[in-house]
Amino acid sequence: MTTPLTTPLLLALPLGVAAIFEDPKNSNINFSIIGISIRPSYFVEVGKAIRDGGIAIEIDPKLAQGDAIYFFKTNKIVLKSYDFNDLLLCALIIHEGVHAINDIKKRSKIATIDDEVAAFVAQALYVRGHGYPASTGLRLTDNTDKKKDAVFQKAFLIADLITARKSFWQEWIDLRAAIKAVPDYAGSLATPRAYKGIKK
Ligand SMILES: [Zn+2]
Repeated sequence: MTTPLTTPLLLALPLGVAAIFEDPKNSNINFSIIGISIRPSYFVEVGKAIRDGGIAIEIDPKLAQGDAIYFFKTNKIVLKSYDFNDLLLCALIIHEGVHAINDIKKRSKIATIDDEVAAFVAQALYVRGHGYPASTGLRLTDNTDKKKDAVFQKAFLIADLITARKSFWQEWIDLRAAIKAVPDYAGSLATPRAYKGIKK
């Protein structure tokens, strides 16, 4: 049985998520490719939208789509859990924040796969920016799913190229293929995302 969230937690939750987007350490999450630019200031905009109520934050311990998702039609981020001391959960929230950015910026024409590639790259840059060095390994998940591991491996490769200010176009194409190879992500890719901006 699920314990209902108490009122103080319901109030604190959006602020906790907004703080992740407003973290000054996000300054390394800064790249641009094929109509998708992701800037630290855009994450701050997501934080503001959360504080203003334009983007809602909800917890659903039974969330079927994974540990987190951004619903672009209703402008809400739904999380399975809320331990914001968990670096990898925060990185996943940054991933969903990229989808929110592309929605706020009304990027209705971008390919769904590139929306996903950008989100995984931002997720990897977040982890790097928060002191998880390359030497400790390339994995972001605790499981032994080789297809998912390949996604994170390629995302970290691009993150490190961005940090080194090198070109990453070929690696971007490789990451597209790695994401398409993961069955769990296939359903998400099949749904077109006509980003029209947040409503509030
Ligand atoms: Zn995504």
